Amino acid sequence: MSEPVGAGDGLGAQVKTYLFGLFVLVLLFCLYVLQSSAHSRKLRSQLLETREDLISTTVSKSYVENILRSMAETLMVIDPDGTIQRVNQAATNMLGYERVELVGRPVGDVLADGVGVLSLLKRSGLNDVLRSIDTSVVTKDGRHVAVSLSGSVMRDDDGGIQGMVCVAQDITERKRAQEMLEQRTHELARSNDELEQFAWVASHDLQEPLRMVASYTQLLSRRYKGKLDSDADEFIEFAVDGAARMRRLINDLLEFSRVGTHGKDFETTDCEAIYERTLVDLGGLVEDSGALVTHDRLPTVMGDGTQLGQLFQNLIVNAIKFRRDDEQLTIHVGVERQDGNWVIGVRDNGIGIDPQYAERIFIVFQRLHGKGHRAGTGIGLAICKKIVERHGGRIWVESLPGEGSTFYFTLPVNEENSSHE
Ligand code: ADP
Repeated sequence: MSEPVGAGDGLGAQVKTYLFGLFVLVLLFCLYVLQSSAHSRKLRSQLLETREDLISTTVSKSYVENILRSMAETLMVIDPDGTIQRVNQAATNMLGYERVELVGRPVGDVLADGVGVLSLLKRSGLNDVLRSIDTSVVTKDGRHVAVSLSGSVMRDDDGGIQGMVCVAQDITERKRAQEMLEQRTHELARSNDELEQFAWVASHDLQEPLRMVASYTQLLSRRYKGKLDSDADEFIEFAVDGAARMRRLINDLLEFSRVGTHGKDFETTDCEAIYERTLVDLGGLVEDSGALVTHDRLPTVMGDGTQLGQLFQNLIVNAIKFRRDDEQLTIHVGVERQDGNWVIGVRDNGIGIDPQYAERIFIVFQRLHGKGHRAGTGIGLAICKKIVERHGGRIWVESLPGEGSTFYFTLPVNEENSSHE
């Protein structure tokens, strides 16, 4: 006998359905577990990121705080209305306010140029940086402290103005030093003027008694030479020589002090004409020396013609005075333009100068070479220096012993007459 087919099949089908259901359940569970673990991983990583962000924000905040606290310069952050938003410790130290007293206060209360800073804020976009202006801050007890103020406009990501960061540096010491320097320069200029006046008055007033000494010693010499003993003749001769030399020195000193005290106002001056006239004035001296004198076309400058003539004269006379005996003297006056200056050089082939004395010879009464036809008082080059400096230039010499000298001086180019063709 066989089993009824329907009953066995039904059981098998039920088991299959059950197993299938179980499988689906396990699958769903696995899916759930997988999904939730992915979700939790994502959550975890988001959490980590947030934590790191938080840490780095906290770290950078305290880092920035640290920077602000360590700054020696006063720092103020100002909002677009000109209200102080934030200050650092240096600001509270300098201004004498507590932080809470400063924050919320109009910047004009503490900044002498608060208005200027605000106007810069308003001019937004044109110039976002305020570069080191000298101004002052006003402390709580009303003192003004000199500061150098810089500032830059703060903008948000859309370019809108958030405010301004201002940094002020105490420049009291620098200002004091600057004022002292200005005062000293002023005093120096004044005492220089006084000295010039003094030298002029002294040399001028000394001339009269000196003239008397000189003429009476000459009278003594004429009347009593040979009538007293030989010692007396010698003494009288010394006195005559001394008086004559003193006269030359005083005259030179007078001339030297005249450069500063009696100079004429500057006017358009043609150096070519001045130079030609000087050569005419020196005619006999130049001829006697047998010198060959040449020159470049000289420029027109702003200057005192009389003094420029004296300058050329002193330099040419020196070239003649300090010539070599074994060679024909040649003198060339050259000119070249260097930026804003004419550089004029008076070159000779004379005895030359040891470079170690190149500066000394421009000092009053400093001489290197001697007597005879080279006699002098040593003031010629000092006068040249004074004339050149009065004209805004400088003078120097390039020379080697036995190889001649070139005395260079500069004169500012007068832009209206800058050509010398
Ligand atoms: P002084 O001509 O009366 O001696 P300066 O002041 O004109 O006075 O010159 C100072 C010195 O510089 C001169 O004594 C001389 O030694 C030197 N010196 C000036 N010009 C020349 C020159 N062209 N060549 C050589 N030496 C010179």
